[in-house]
Amino acid sequence: MKKLKQRLLLFCLALGLTGCGNTGEILDEVIQSGILDEYLQPENVQKIEVPEGELEVHFIDVGQADCALLASGGHFMLIDGGNNDDADRILTYLQNAGVKKLDIVVGTHPHEDHIGSLDVAIEAFDVETVYMPEVSADTETYRDVLKAVKGKGLQVQHPAPGDVLDFNGLPVEIFGPVKEYSNLNNNSIVLRVSVGETEFLFTGDVETEAEFDILDQGFDISADVLKVSHHGSSGSSVEEFLAYTDADYAVISVGIGNSYNHPEDVTLKRLQNYGMEIFRTDQLGTIVCKTDGEKISFRQEGKSSQSAAVREAAYIGNKNSMKYHTLDCSSLPIEKNRAYFADQAAAEEAGYSPCGSCKP
Ligand SMILES: [Zn+2]
Ligand SMILES: [Zn+2]
Repeated sequence: MKKLKQRLLLFCLALGLTGCGNTGEILDEVIQSGILDEYLQPENVQKIEVPEGELEVHFIDVGQADCALLASGGHFMLIDGGNNDDADRILTYLQNAGVKKLDIVVGTHPHEDHIGSLDVAIEAFDVETVYMPEVSADTETYRDVLKAVKGKGLQVQHPAPGDVLDFNGLPVEIFGPVKEYSNLNNNSIVLRVSVGETEFLFTGDVETEAEFDILDQGFDISADVLKVSHHGSSGSSVEEFLAYTDADYAVISVGIGNSYNHPEDVTLKRLQNYGMEIFRTDQLGTIVCKTDGEKISFRQEGKSSQSAAVREAAYIGNKNSMKYHTLDCSSLPIEKNRAYFADQAAAEEAGYSPCGSCKP
């Protein structure tokens, strides 16, 4: 499909606006107009209706985490489930989307930002099969997922590279993990969903070592849309891997002002060097990609739905140390320990004192 020169990128905009042509300009227009801000917020999501043989992928904005809902002909598949505190957001989104049953649930690897709310999703809907890699994590989050799976009378399945699963008639090829790694990220399930002549590659958080191992297997990993690995970290998306994906569109699921500096500039540059158009949840909020098997189109909120407080924050407080920092301080706390402040007065009022190293 990607080989077809005449392929059209349609930004099917909400509210009747449809455009095609210079995607950058159209995107700018949408962002400036602000009309889509609320469109894909979980509470406003409409029932998803996708004809048989077609596919919609909803990269749900869950901040610094991954969560993709795939819909085809009334069937649904969930790849990753955000952080623990994304449960309400994900449930609301799925319920409004009309999900009653999840045919396939994939937890790419047992990190909280990928399986955090999987337990809640598994408990809330009928579930047919749950896939996770054959590695465990000694965390409550991981145990919660296992408990939820068991509660449904199911057992976690471990797909092997080369397996082809079936999602409502669409092939889901498994490329990884090809072996067991000490680094959990490298154990991510890597899979490709094909629809007609279009392909979507999901990479979890795989890093360079696993990327090379997948290439060594000789799998055809080419795709139109690439879910960029590990939130755009520079330790992933090695050039050889990107070259083989030959993707046109790169989707990065990432949190605004995250403490890891994801996505890293060097990764963005690599993606651009391969001519990929980049879509980021921290800039665009939830991103929906649709295909009829030939054409691919995108729509998005236009602005991240991550809370306005986060978006407008000028200072970040550490809930543990009760210090507040500038946004570029080298010792910012991890996501869940953060408090966001628009100005110093607000931070001081909340009982926070200035950090000694960035001296706000
Ligand atoms: Zn991870
Ligand atoms: Zn991750």
